[in-house]
This record gives sequence, C-alpha cells and structure tokens, in this order.
Amino acid sequence: AALWDQPAPVPELGVSFEFFPPRGAQGEARLWETVERLAAYAPDFVSVTYGAGGSTRDKTHDTVVRMRDEFGLDAAAHLTCVDAAKRDVMAVADAYEAAGINHIVALRGDPPQGGGAYVPHPEGFAFAVDLVRALAARGGFEISVAAYPEVHPHALNPDADLDNLKAKLDAGATRAITQYFFDPAVYLRFRDRAAAAGITRPILAGLMPVLGFAQIRRFSAACGAGIPDWMIRLYDGAEDDEATHQAVSAMLLAEQARLLAAEGCHDLHFYTLNKADLTIAACHLLGIRPRRAAAAADAAIPAATAAG
Ligand code: FAD
Repeated sequence: AALWDQPAPVPELGVSFEFFPPRGAQGEARLWETVERLAAYAPDFVSVTYGAGGSTRDKTHDTVVRMRDEFGLDAAAHLTCVDAAKRDVMAVADAYEAAGINHIVALRGDPPQGGGAYVPHPEGFAFAVDLVRALAARGGFEISVAAYPEVHPHALNPDADLDNLKAKLDAGATRAITQYFFDPAVYLRFRDRAAAAGITRPILAGLMPVLGFAQIRRFSAACGAGIPDWMIRLYDGAEDDEATHQAVSAMLLAEQARLLAAEGCHDLHFYTLNKADLTIAACHLLGIRPRRAAAAADAAIPAATAAG
C-alpha cells in the first residue's frame, strides 16, 4: 500500500534494538545518546553483543546493566561459546543473574579475526545448542538464539541449518532473531519453512540499517546475507552523496519494515549499529511514536483547543 493508504499502526507490532559495547569516549557518548533517543520508542527489549571470543565480556555486562538501570529497558546480553571453557561461559551467566539480568542471546560465535575454520574449545560448548541446553538446565534465564533465513555459511545444508534452529528452540530458547536480510521475501519464505518444520516460537526479523552501502556489501559476503540486484541499482550513484544515501537508506529500512508488518511479522529487531536516525525513521513510518512526545502531544491538545 502507498504510505497514505496505510492502515492504522498495528497495535501488536513490537520492536527491539541491538547495540554493541562502545569503544572509546566518543563511542561511549554516541551510544548513550542513541540509547536515550531509542528508549523513547518503548522497545520490547534491547540487546548488547559480545565481542569475538569474549573480548568485551565486562563491557557487555556493564552496558546491559546500565541500559536496565538508567533507562528501565528490558536488556539482554549476548553470550558466545567460542574460545572459552564451559565453566567460564557459565561464570559469565552467573554474573548476569547476580546483577538481575535474566535474558541471554545464546550464540556459538566465530573464530577471532574471522580466520579459519571454527574449532570448539576443548573444554567448551561446541555449538549454540549446547549452551542453550546448559542455560536451560541451570534456569533463571529467558534465552534467545540466532536464525539464518539465507542459511548459515557453515551449515551442511539448508535443512540441517533449520533442524539446528529447531533444536535450539526445543532445548529451551523462547525466540529466534534472524541474521539480517534485505529482501523481505527471503524472510517470508524462511518463516514458511520454519512453520512447516514445526517451529512455533517467534522469529524476529533482523533489519540492518544501511549506513554505508559499500561497507555493507563487503560485510554481507562474509555472513551470507544476499545483496539483491535492485539494491545495487538503488544505491548506484548515491554512495558519495551523504544526504541522498541517508534518504535512500531510511526509505529502504522503512519499506522492509512496512512490508513485513503488513505480512503479519510483528517483531522487528533493528541492528542499530549504535546510531539512532535510520531506526527512528523506520519506527516513525511504522506509526510508532516516542513515549514522551506522544505524552506531550496528548497534554497539548486540550490547551490548543482552549486557546483556539
Ligand atoms: P550455531 O547455532 O551453533 O550454528 C553454527 C553453525 O553450525 C551452523 O552452520 C549450523 O548449521 C552448524 N551446526 C550446528 N550444530 C552442528 C553440528 N552438530 N554439526 C555440524 N554443524 C552444526 N557473534 C558474536 O561473536 N557476538 C555476538 O554478540 C553475536 N550476536 C549475534 C546475534 C544475532 C541475532 C545473529 C544472527 C548472529 C550473532 N553473532 C554474534 C554471530 C554468530 O556468532 C555467528 O553467526 C556464528 O557463526 C554462528 O552462531 P550461532 O549461534 O548461530 O551458531
């Protein structure tokens, strides 16, 4: 539907926002400004990534706790298996429970520096499903896991990858969050395949704002996210024109979100990259308004009427 033919905003539509632990004073300042702006959009939850092999262990912990304490957000911590013994991974989980954080995004992780084949730590959890099992047996956490609409690059085949997702959900995860994709049809086909495989838990659609098209093209090759031809045409000639690039990216993200919402996908997970503008543009075009602005507008209406 055209923007002006849109039905009223879908009341059950939920958004969630992902961040990475900030680096340096500038990164820190930018993150907290972004969180403050996005918190006003009342996300179902926010999450904070875990740097390769645990490199951000303390930073992830501190960031998640501050999001909860300062902004009242339901904050989830990512946790990976790679390069760590089971006891060390579970000690990280223990520290979250002690801090009152009860949502973990359980992942396998990748070999550091993206180099070589994945080799499980000799005393570690081999795959994400093993971590999910351990967390579920331990208790105390809501668990989310990753899903791959375009198939994980190291999967034996698409069916085995889907079986792995089902195994993670059957082991105790309550939702999956997809790797980002650009063509909404990719997600919708995956959702159908998941339903046919007996998956009933929510599969949140992971949406990536395109901050720099050239960069995202390079990055996508490594993680298996396809760049459709129409997207190459969309950005052709816009790479070096900041304002046009930003407008195209805002339109693209909003269109992806609108189409998914219209198709009944009511859980959208934004990979914010610690920047607010594009995610806010998409939320706005979905009809979501910031809490404070909405409250202020409600308060202003009677006064304006009285004055008029
Ligand atoms: P798994 O579910 O364990 O799957 C990994 C691969 O192994 C798949 O190809 C699967 O099909 C295959 N597989 C599973 N079991 C077996 C088996 N028994 N035998 C053979 N093959 C098997 N990375 C980070 O480092 N930090 C993060 O914070 C982070 N956050 C992420 C958030 C989301 C929403 C997503 C989608 C990814 C994230 N990643 C993160 C990246 C993730 O760590 C990588 O994609 C990683 O390669 C796979 O992790 P996984 O949890 O999906 O692994």
